[in-house]
Amino acid sequence: MTFYHRSFLRGVNDPDRRFRDFQNHVIHVTDGYWGGAPRVAHRWYDRLLNGLVDGHMSNAAHAAGVLSHYISDPLTPLHTEHCPRACVLHRPIEYAINLAYDDLYQLWNDDSQHALTDLPNSRVWLGEMILRGSARANQHYWTLLSDINIEKVMADPRDCFGDRFASASAEMIGRSVTGIARTLERAAEECEDRTGQNLQASDMPRPWVRDLLRMIPNRISSYRWHRKQSEKMQQLIDEYHQRGELVEHLPSEVAIVQHVIEIYHREKRWTERQSDRTLQKAIDDRNVIAGRIGFDTATEPMQNRLPRTA
Ligand SMILES: [Zn+2]
Repeated sequence: MTFYHRSFLRGVNDPDRRFRDFQNHVIHVTDGYWGGAPRVAHRWYDRLLNGLVDGHMSNAAHAAGVLSHYISDPLTPLHTEHCPRACVLHRPIEYAINLAYDDLYQLWNDDSQHALTDLPNSRVWLGEMILRGSARANQHYWTLLSDINIEKVMADPRDCFGDRFASASAEMIGRSVTGIARTLERAAEECEDRTGQNLQASDMPRPWVRDLLRMIPNRISSYRWHRKQSEKMQQLIDEYHQRGELVEHLPSEVAIVQHVIEIYHREKRWTERQSDRTLQKAIDDRNVIAGRIGFDTATEPMQNRLPRTA
């Protein structure tokens, strides 16, 4: 599959660039674990497995890339909750982490107790792993939001955050990398179980998955990306200083998630109102029947007094 690393990298970027289903890139832990990441991750895991079993390695590599996105995004603290402060800081924080990725990865690697992701053994192990990871990431949510200096992001993005921010980010990078690597290993094992044959051994050294993952930030740190991001960041900061909020330069991924959350809460309120109405109607109907047959529903429970009809 390593031969198809371009398909893998295309898959890594597809959820942000092509699918743009940003509500599936999050798990809002404090909002009842709202978000579609586990569902789509299971779907892409099935595609990965089918690709491996059928020997369609390019498809498998693409699915592995997409899957890695749906695993790693919900393990990013800013994808685990929603608040006005995060709307402003989302892009600056991601920008700073991208530029400092190698240092943060090294910080995790050098930590003698570095955090790892273990796979659960339940039938829905993948979704469970993502939910557990997002719950852990959510514990760092306010650390990231409070330990960054937005004024320093443009001047020195590698020096705009403190130690707490760095160790929280390093931990979650480590959990993402190991979560993705173990998921791909499990897919390989499942494929071998199904086919009864060993997957062809890679001619690359074993930690190829990690090396491929490290190519992601390296790629997006290209000159063009950097220049574009710098411009966007400056516009965002200027707008924030002028208005005290973001309207024009609100990142599209944040705006889409915000929009879907509003719809979700509106539907939730509507469902609650509907069930209140249904309940009220049942009470009204009961009172009408009770009135007709002369029972006082205020003092005696109806189930004790209404005659059985069947
Ligand atoms: Zn994403």
